[in-house]
Amino acid sequence: MSNKIQTELLKCNDNNIKKASEYLKQGHLVVFPTETVFGIGGDAFSDKAIKKIFKVKKRPIFNPLIVHIKDKDSIEDNAIINKKAEILINYFMPGPLTLILPINKKSKISKFVTAGLNTIALRVPSHKIIKSILEEFGRPIAAPSANISGKPSSTRANDAYNAFKGLIPCIMENKDAQIGLESTVVGFYEGNPVLLRYGALEVEKIQDILGEKVLIRNSIKKTEKVLSPGQTLRHYSPVATIRLNAVKAKKNEVFMGFGKLPENVLGKNLSENRDLSEAASNLYSTLIDLDELCFKSNKTQIAVASIPNIGIGKTINDRLKKASNKN
Ligand code: AMP
Ligand code: MG
Repeated sequence: MSNKIQTELLKCNDNNIKKASEYLKQGHLVVFPTETVFGIGGDAFSDKAIKKIFKVKKRPIFNPLIVHIKDKDSIEDNAIINKKAEILINYFMPGPLTLILPINKKSKISKFVTAGLNTIALRVPSHKIIKSILEEFGRPIAAPSANISGKPSSTRANDAYNAFKGLIPCIMENKDAQIGLESTVVGFYEGNPVLLRYGALEVEKIQDILGEKVLIRNSIKKTEKVLSPGQTLRHYSPVATIRLNAVKAKKNEVFMGFGKLPENVLGKNLSENRDLSEAASNLYSTLIDLDELCFKSNKTQIAVASIPNIGIGKTINDRLKKASNKN
């Protein structure tokens, strides 16, 4: 983008919530914290704002965006709700669950948001800052994660600042702990729930509430791309390459630990106490910091300790696997 703009880091207070909402009304993009990761949002009704999101993120236009809405009632303004969706809405919204539902005729959402599909991804966030912005702005906000496409998501205002300075007018700061992983995405195939993306809400919890198994996206090969476009193999990736299930670091590596770091190793820990929630909230910031450490210490690879594949550990492993893919 040619015309650079001044990017402000704003403390989250009532005045700045109003300011962020004004920017959105003028068609600008705003970065804000949510309970999952930081989002970069724009007016979901505005083609112009939505095009900006794709441009600043360098996101392929076939990768549709999640629309953030203020409450459950607003789902009906945009989508057709089935019985199972209704159960999930009642149990898990607001929260880190995104549902893919057929768009209804009333919806005023820009067609660029949905990449021309006849479905829409909807989420009701629970974090007070995005909730206040949604309330003040009064319209749905389309918001993917606040990172350049393919890179690790931002869980610190500063990481978003480094990605978007000069391109957007403001970034809302936040000090509260976050889950640190994106929302779980669930769609429906022939009336059955399908997990389209592992995320912050554990799939077991969804299954418990529905009383049935949730299909996994890859099991429906033929329709995989249509059900969830944009789920590329390589994603969340730093510049350094990644080696998974490592016990110690090789010469060209820094180490990402889970539990105590090995003696004299150059690296950083996801969680010294082997706490999966703590590891989740540290994942992206640690990837970004270790990438920088690689650069400074002339190393090329991040060796990652193995993470238990249970609960939220499944989502951490999904992200690490994607981050480690070569293409
Ligand atoms: P992100 O915004 O990067 O967190 O990713 C959002 C993801 O949600 C996309 O990559 C899609 O896989 C999925 N998604 C969003 N909208 C739709 C939709 N209408 N149909 C299917 N999947 C969607
Ligand atoms: Mg993303």
